Amino acid sequence: MTTINEINNKPLLTVLVPCHNEEGNIQSLYNALDHFSHSVYTVETDGREGGSLVDINNMDLEFLFVDDGSVDSTVEMLEQLRNRDSRVSVVRLSRNFGKENALLAGMDFAKGDAVVIMDADLQDPIEVVPEMIYWWRQGYDDVYGKRISRGKESWLRKRLSLAFYALLKKMSNIDILPNVGDFRLLDRKSVDALRQLRETQRYTKGLYCWIGFRKKEVAFDRADRHAGKSSFNMMKLLNLAVEGITSYTTTPLRISIVAGFLVSILAFCYLIFIFMKTLIWGEAVSGFPTLICVILFLGGMQLLALGIIGEYVGRIFNETKGRAPYVVDSYNFEEGWSRKRK
Ligand code: UDP
Ligand code: MG
Repeated sequence: MTTINEINNKPLLTVLVPCHNEEGNIQSLYNALDHFSHSVYTVETDGREGGSLVDINNMDLEFLFVDDGSVDSTVEMLEQLRNRDSRVSVVRLSRNFGKENALLAGMDFAKGDAVVIMDADLQDPIEVVPEMIYWWRQGYDDVYGKRISRGKESWLRKRLSLAFYALLKKMSNIDILPNVGDFRLLDRKSVDALRQLRETQRYTKGLYCWIGFRKKEVAFDRADRHAGKSSFNMMKLLNLAVEGITSYTTTPLRISIVAGFLVSILAFCYLIFIFMKTLIWGEAVSGFPTLICVILFLGGMQLLALGIIGEYVGRIFNETKGRAPYVVDSYNFEEGWSRKRK
């Protein structure tokens, strides 16, 4: 199949946007993207006086929206956009599979030589993309946005997410970067590498690091959500954190070994102490509170360790089923697209 970019030699840039109930944002995002596609930017780069020009008119664009089981009018809006503008492509998933899987679906359908991943809520500023393009042209394969500020978020969420990054960094030997999200430009090479990783319980932030390649950081201020509210509540974020830890490292299992070992040593010392005490002073049977404390403590430890093991067994269970990470309902609203593709 020849793509447009092979005919006129312009590189094709895919802007990939996962959408879940984003009716309030789609139109503004499209307007921003459309404006972006006709603009010329000057990128401040160290070394070059006056910066470098990045002319978006010299690129072909594809706006790829992945509808992740929206239940509002997102799909209708996307359909209208698609009818008006052939640069718009829409992948509709059959239900809500979560952002991580929606991203994978997007990567599978993206045609671009490079893919920019953006949120639908305009939290990721499009003005940063030219800088990403600049660095991509300099040969970087993964130009990621690093948030200088995080937009409107609760104090607790900010703290917890930083603590999580610190914990994950300690536990795994893969460096997962704090304050770096999905907003980034990926070269075709990186996209193809990510597509090969078909795990169903995905933690994409870690996968970007895992695949390696040449990376470059671009700083940006994260804006507030344009409309609607975040799909990620505390519970979902906590789940994502557990996902992150259990898909990257088996350190928690090792911690339970160490904890078990320490408790055994302590118990052994205490045993010797009681033994001596009884021999020397002939103590009568007593110590109900101590017993209860020890039993409860050990019971708790055992359940915790079991839970940790369970978490990994659950992952094995889910992955061995070998299910597809997502199911597509339609591509560009064509009927029977799946049959056509074969
Ligand atoms: N999203 C998605 N599927 C989901 C939840 C979210 O595709 O199940 C999309 C959502 O439409 C948005 C992006 O993922 O484009 C980020 O979501 P959100 O703004 O809710 O997350 P936050 O910015 O609070 O991390
Ligand atoms: Mg958001």
